[in-house]
Amino acid sequence: VDDLGVIARRTFNDNVPGIEAIDRLFRAGKGGKLQLKKETQKPVVLVLGTGWGAHSLVKVIDVEQFEVVVVSPRNHFLFTPMLPSTAVGTVEFRSLLEPIRTSNPFATYLEASCEKIDPDTKVAYCTAAVAFEDGRRPQFEIEYDMVVVAVGEQPATFGVPGVADYCYFMKEVSDTVELRKKIQEAFELAALPGTSEEDRRRVLHFVVVGGGPTGVEFAGTLNDFVRVDLAKKYPELMPFVTVSLYQSAQSILTQFSGSLQQRAIQNFKASGVQVVLGVQVTGVERDFIKIKPKDSEEVQDVPYGLCVWSTGNAARPLVRDLVAGLPRQGKYSNPARPAAAKLAVDPYLRVVGARDMIALGDCSMMLGNRLPATAQVAGQQGAYVARMVNRGYSMGLGGMDTAPPVRVDPALGEVDTEGLRKLHPVDAAAISQQPKLTEMDLQAVLNNDSTYLRTPAGVSYYRKPFEFLSLGIMAYVGNDKALTQVEAFDTSLNVYGSLAFLLWRSVYITKQVSFRNRVLILFDWMKARVFGRDLSQF
Ligand code: FAD
Repeated sequence: VDDLGVIARRTFNDNVPGIEAIDRLFRAGKGGKLQLKKETQKPVVLVLGTGWGAHSLVKVIDVEQFEVVVVSPRNHFLFTPMLPSTAVGTVEFRSLLEPIRTSNPFATYLEASCEKIDPDTKVAYCTAAVAFEDGRRPQFEIEYDMVVVAVGEQPATFGVPGVADYCYFMKEVSDTVELRKKIQEAFELAALPGTSEEDRRRVLHFVVVGGGPTGVEFAGTLNDFVRVDLAKKYPELMPFVTVSLYQSAQSILTQFSGSLQQRAIQNFKASGVQVVLGVQVTGVERDFIKIKPKDSEEVQDVPYGLCVWSTGNAARPLVRDLVAGLPRQGKYSNPARPAAAKLAVDPYLRVVGARDMIALGDCSMMLGNRLPATAQVAGQQGAYVARMVNRGYSMGLGGMDTAPPVRVDPALGEVDTEGLRKLHPVDAAAISQQPKLTEMDLQAVLNNDSTYLRTPAGVSYYRKPFEFLSLGIMAYVGNDKALTQVEAFDTSLNVYGSLAFLLWRSVYITKQVSFRNRVLILFDWMKARVFGRDLSQF
């Protein structure tokens, strides 16, 4: 499919100058400045990331109109909601991935991290994520017309000592590859004749820290693996196994209704997961975890074999630097907590105080409407931005007090600044500087994603702000049971148990980003059901 993509690019010819510019740059071997616009005459849209936000944008953006360059250290999209299933082999790793070059073969992908953006000169500074044998990593710069920051976040350690050294995270496929190996190693180690009872109990103590959806789903999934598959192969070890979930709040899954939270806790109790509420982990050593009840000073050392840290996310360095460097962002962030930094965006997802910069997904914070950091939000935002860009809306300067993105029908006349002023508190001068665009797109109005003003002089279109459509929340809690909560028409529909599990599976199979992934996952589920999960270790 990759080859076909390249053949198609060459056949349709559109992207070739961009590709050749990159080829030349890398053949030269010393990096340099990528000035694609000069080569292609098309505006360059630089997309940072290949996660939920970037992926949905890259699928929809019009490569005929724009030179699309994607920079990300990860060359694939990952379907995160099912990541915990890969740690125990219910689903195979590759079934959840889509190579970004497949998602849109006409976009240029560069496996690198963006380390710095200069919003004034509109240049992004990048370093390759892959290195030569001697450790050299090419560095290069990209000039852009518009940049979309969709870099997500990284796991937060909250400064707890030992977490970075001894804990596993649940964020990328590489995390679950290691986890799967470690779980199987723990059982093999415990099964050896020379292993003491104390060590056996310790290595088979699996701890999950964090009672949010990711921690809960992993605890439930791991418990299934242990009680269903491993119990058949290592029956003599079962009395030594403990799966614990530590949570600092007094409940788990706090984004769900109280009754669903209680159901999840009861399910864990019934299936043998030890849920410890109201405790803080104050440190992690190689063999034990220090825990402290929230209302006491007494610290307890708990021996463990494997600890998965799933307590939330923190800002990536690029986002921290952007927030610190853009003066108007200061109003919305706390400099004392740089790890919590998010890029403040206006309702059109334009970064406040930056020109031609969009931010979406987990790394952003929409002013006026605080949205959850979820795949649903990031995916919808990516598609919104792509539609806006495709229809020729010029972005300009981001901020609540600047004009919404606008496009003008040149055949019909001037921008209606008077009407616009009534519609939105705008800087009319900024509007009159917007470039005029080439063709009228009534479709936008028919699709109800734009609003327009008609005057004797003509028609101008103003992009509607982003609106999030919540499709509900779900979580798998183990034992073939799940929780589903859908809010519709001012009522909340709560479903728990096997029916919710069926819903969970149906929703996630339909939400897959390709037919290939759908088929692979269906086969994985069938395989696990018929033959059990794979226990082999590499
Ligand atoms: P991400 O998807 O995190 O993507 C960020 C991208 O940026 C990655 O490709 C990364 O490699 C790249 N990147 C990082 N640094 C740089 C850089 N410097 N330069 C360029 N690129 C960079 N949400 C739900 O709605 N439902 C669920 O059931 C659910 N379950 C989840 C389960 C797990 C295990 C996890 C980890 C998350 C889950 N989420 C779920 C949350 C959801 O995955 C995130 O909200 C979503 O991924 C955010 O999308 P994003 O595009 O902002 O960032």
